[in-house]
Amino acid sequence: MKRSQALAWMRVAGYHADRWAFTRLLVEERVSRAAGEAAWKQGTEAKRNGVACKCRRCVPGSDVPTFPQEV
Ligand SMILES: [Zn+2]
Repeated sequence: MKRSQALAWMRVAGYHADRWAFTRLLVEERVSRAAGEAAWKQGTEAKRNGVACKCRRCVPGSDVPTFPQEV
């Protein structure tokens, strides 16, 4: 998985407050904790701002996590 993709999924994990998925990405994709936490925070902020999540869970058939703000 590309680093940018891993970070995108970490934003999704933050959006859904899914700490388990976040930790798994952090370990498996060897993303630095600082970058990971920043992505997590962006996800939680996107949720608070009412941004629509486009992950598989929210949009059936989607496999591209997309948020307006990119790292
Ligand atoms: Zn979602």
